[in-house]
Amino acid sequence: MEEADCIVVGAGVVGLAIARELARAGREVLIVEAEGAIGTGVSSRNSEVIHAGIYYPTGLVKTRLCTEGRARLYAFCADYGILHRRCGKILVATTDHEIAKLEALKAQGNANGVDDLRWLSAAEARALEPELICVRALLSPSTGIIDSHAFMLALQGDAESHGAVVAFETPVVGGRVEAGRLVIETGGAEPMRLAARTVVNTAGLGAQRLALAIEGLPAATVPPLHLAKGNYFALATRAPFSHLIYPMPVAGGLGVHLTLDLAGRARFGPDVEWIDAVDYGVDPARCESFYSAIRAYWPNLADGALVPDYCGIRPKIERPGGSTTDFMISGPQTHGVAGLFNLFGIESPGLTASLAIGHLVTSLAT
Ligand SMILES: Cc1cc2nc3c(=O)[nH]c(=O)nc-3n(C[C@H](O)[C@H](O)[C@H](O)COP(=O)(O)OP(=O)(O)OC[C@H]3O[C@@H](n4cnc5c(N)ncnc54)[C@H](O)[C@@H]3O)c2cc1C
Repeated sequence: MEEADCIVVGAGVVGLAIARELARAGREVLIVEAEGAIGTGVSSRNSEVIHAGIYYPTGLVKTRLCTEGRARLYAFCADYGILHRRCGKILVATTDHEIAKLEALKAQGNANGVDDLRWLSAAEARALEPELICVRALLSPSTGIIDSHAFMLALQGDAESHGAVVAFETPVVGGRVEAGRLVIETGGAEPMRLAARTVVNTAGLGAQRLALAIEGLPAATVPPLHLAKGNYFALATRAPFSHLIYPMPVAGGLGVHLTLDLAGRARFGPDVEWIDAVDYGVDPARCESFYSAIRAYWPNLADGALVPDYCGIRPKIERPGGSTTDFMISGPQTHGVAGLFNLFGIESPGLTASLAIGHLVTSLAT
């Protein structure tokens, strides 16, 4: 049996960030990834937004990790030359009834330490975005967008330059606690048995299945997995906006918002569609609800302007209808298995929080 110091399962943005931090702390790290490349899971199917940290209740782990992660991420982008833009986002109330919701969001953001939020009147919002219709708005200047693949490549490169190794096409199929050590079994072309001091399960949508395949881990410590698909529709023409535009959040998501990529292309979404099995198709029929949601703040959206784009799947650990659950970082204190860390429910803002998650898990594992 091979010996390893740390095994990180999953080369998504969170696994890579943890692996990099562990490697920089002097740990010997092996990243095992089922697929043939980094970031093919949830990490390549998101909005690529650097979130400010406005929405989440104060006191949740994800709230702290978002604001801390955002600061770390902007610093990382500057240090490593990662393409990003602090474009800012405008949250809009489109009816008088929504103003109270916007006020509550401002209060929540302030409580979370987001101290740069600025009120905009309808006229001020229109001066920034002439096509935008609202009754009141909130500007979040520290929201931005990032080339998430370039970020992941930089994480991989830095982890490797500190000695980490990535094994692709190496799915973890099971594990057990053996004589006080964690033994991990991999499948693929060259199955292995690896004993490790630390195992970090950052398998995204596969985290629950992997945890349940580890003999000796109490199943009661593994939360359920609920799949909340988020569909995107792209704008076929150039967007007349330079900020991200967000309506009021809905149960399970942030509302059908407009995000821009670094090439200036606009897409709308993600919506919330609860599904029973992973399925990456986008049903063109869903665009009807997009038109009505978007026209509440952009009435000039032309018929036929939206085309089905891609989708991502949120790994929720709460039943449909629940809107805010926390990230679950389940370590030995929770489940009693020394050296094992399971990460569940790492949905948005996991990309923003990734560097802070890496820092936290490394401190817990050291
Ligand atoms: C629709 C949507 C929009 C989002 N928008 C944003 C946003 O704008 N900003 C933001 O901050 N966050 C956003 N997020 C959240 C963010 O994308 C995720 O939190 C983040 O990508 C999770 O990364 P991960 O590494 O945990 O998971 P993943 O990227 O899914 O990585 C898990 C990896 O584990 C591998 N794996 C699975 N099982 C095994 C196994 N048994 N053995 C080996 N490998 C395995 C998979 O192949 C995969 O590569 C969004 C998420 C969704 C769904």
